Amino acid sequence: MDFSDTREEAAFRTEVRAWIDANAPKHLKPYLEASGFGTTNTGGYDTFAEAKAWQRRKAEAGWACLVWPKEYGGRGATPIQNVIWGQEEGVYGKLSGAFIIGQGMCAPTLMSAASETHKARYIPKIASGEEVWCQLFSEPASGSDLAGLRTRAEKDGDDWVINGQKIWTSGAQHSDYGILITRTDPTVAKHKGLTMFFLSMKSPGVDIRPIKQANGQSEFNEVYFENVRIPDSQRLGAVGDGWRVSLTTLMNERMAIGGGIATGFPDLMELVEDLPLGDGTAVENPVVRARLADWYVKAAGLKNTSARLLTALSKGQTPGPEASIGKLVAGNMMQDIAKFAIDLQGLGGALTDPTIAEGAARFQAMLLRSPAVRIEGGTDQILRNIIAERVLGLPEDMRADKGIPFNEIPSGASR
Ligand SMILES: Cc1cc2nc3c(=O)[nH]c(=O)nc-3n(C[C@H](O)[C@H](O)[C@H](O)COP(=O)(O)OP(=O)(O)OC[C@H]3O[C@@H](n4cnc5c(N)ncnc54)[C@H](O)[C@@H]3O)c2cc1C
Repeated sequence: MDFSDTREEAAFRTEVRAWIDANAPKHLKPYLEASGFGTTNTGGYDTFAEAKAWQRRKAEAGWACLVWPKEYGGRGATPIQNVIWGQEEGVYGKLSGAFIIGQGMCAPTLMSAASETHKARYIPKIASGEEVWCQLFSEPASGSDLAGLRTRAEKDGDDWVINGQKIWTSGAQHSDYGILITRTDPTVAKHKGLTMFFLSMKSPGVDIRPIKQANGQSEFNEVYFENVRIPDSQRLGAVGDGWRVSLTTLMNERMAIGGGIATGFPDLMELVEDLPLGDGTAVENPVVRARLADWYVKAAGLKNTSARLLTALSKGQTPGPEASIGKLVAGNMMQDIAKFAIDLQGLGGALTDPTIAEGAARFQAMLLRSPAVRIEGGTDQILRNIIAERVLGLPEDMRADKGIPFNEIPSGASR
């Protein structure tokens, strides 16, 4: 494997670098650099407005959603050019958080299942950030087992009437639209009675309630639906085919979330170089060095796995279920590193104020965000199942409700 740029890639990188240098919102750079993991600090500036402005500027110059076709607001670029863009955008990429779900998951779903009229109307505005989308999948009793969802859609004339509840809906409070998976037929096996729609988040009967998180932010929400009406024309795919449509969303989710997750290892290396411990610095301590060696090996493994994926992309291949490995290893590693770095800081580890805490409190931010990394886009256990079944070819997990009509699965809940 040769990981250096080809001549064309190097020329593309130069072009990207020049455009970013001339156009990036440099007034935000110091704040973005100091932003703790999973947070976007823009000083006194309005983060959402700044994110939209940067996205719009990129879109106007043809630098939004690079791999999408031009008619959808993209550039028709190759996946490897997209990777180069991400590397060069660097710290300004932290402004893209509000658009990840719309661009990474909703738009690919619309591309595969929406009418041509809807594609032309909605996808370019997702690219430019003018309209923000969310993903209404998880429910209180269905996350990993998504097909166990209970939100109902019932046909009434040309509309569907929605009743139920979603949870953990990232960005719902800022969203204009959402993709929604519902149960339209409870009398067939759970995967078969599902139907997918998109809807305006401003529809009457949609009630969005932000959830307060451990890190003080409210990234996600509960969303209640009470007699919400969705026209049949906003159905994505056939009635009863929602599971197949949702697999497009979920496959894209693994790619959007799973690629290039931080591990905290470079941050730890920086910390131990200067942190006093015993008679010297932490990096001189043999116990610390043994831990560093373990993490170095894992970080190298991740780097090479990700390079293998990039090589596949640059050859026009689609990465398979092995893409699940990156998030599984990196999420665990980040949590372990954050705990270790905080322990090394002794009493100072309890400080969370970036202006006084060691390493600008980045490990504290990592510790608070890392459990979410191990859950979002597939929990550790679900990723292990995928790797076991689809990469290693081991026997399938037990699925006790397989083939049973949804309304006959014992649950203790009334339907
Ligand atoms: C930061 C964040 C953002 C999110 N954003 C969204 C969003 O925008 N839209 C959305 O719809 N959802 C979102 N989610 C929800 C996410 O998809 C679910 O949390 C996830 O799928 C897990 O579902 P659950 O929370 O119901 O846990 P459960 O599925 O109830 O799992 C509980 C525990 O059981 C384990 N488990 C479950 N099944 C198995 C099995 N078969 N074998 C072994 N162990 C198993 C799990 O690994 C876990 O440890 C978000 C979650 C997070 C953390």
